[in-house]
Amino acid sequence: MKHIFEGIRRHGERSSPWIDRLVTIFKAMDNGYEKAAGRHGFVCRGCEDNCCQSRFYHHTLLEYMSIYRGVSRLSVQKRQQAIERAVVYCRQHAEADAAGTKIKAWCPLNENGRCLIYDLRPMICRLHGIPHALRQPGGRTVQGPGCEYFRSLQKTGSDACLDRTPFYRAMAGLEKEFRAALEANVKFKQTIAEMILSFLPERSGKKQGDNR
Ligand code: SF4
Repeated sequence: MKHIFEGIRRHGERSSPWIDRLVTIFKAMDNGYEKAAGRHGFVCRGCEDNCCQSRFYHHTLLEYMSIYRGVSRLSVQKRQQAIERAVVYCRQHAEADAAGTKIKAWCPLNENGRCLIYDLRPMICRLHGIPHALRQPGGRTVQGPGCEYFRSLQKTGSDACLDRTPFYRAMAGLEKEFRAALEANVKFKQTIAEMILSFLPERSGKKQGDNR
């Protein structure tokens, strides 16, 4: 498995058609989000329930690649600070898990309210906030009400919800191609903090997801 993640990181080190195609999908997400948010007159101004404090898991190797690229582009100092925050993040969540509690902790890539890898941030960071719908492969449609801040504004207009379906499909299609090219038949589920720690040379030989 180690060689698969080494291969992904190599794609993230240089300009790669996989990155280019992923960025095209990300731009479509941003456009779709902006249009849907505009119909609600909604502007994210940050809040106490900041989505950068949500414990999002990411499931695509494409996002592992793009986050690696984003982190690699940081200055040595900023990268080191992000690593230190990732260590704290993982420890805090491990302690909370052991105690059976839930905590909020800032994503290690958030610095003073600003995302350090904004143009390469993952899918959920682009789509979170406004009401959405998602048609699942079986035909069922699931809906989400938007973030706490959105709901506090008591905006209406479920017809203006963001349809995430085309974006999920585009991601799934590209992920399938990427995995086939890498011959990567692996399960993947990591937080950003776990990914950052897995990028460390002494960690890259560890089983992915094992950040103890
Ligand atoms: S990657 Fe960026 S936008 Fe996403 S949670 Fe981290 S800081 Fe926030």
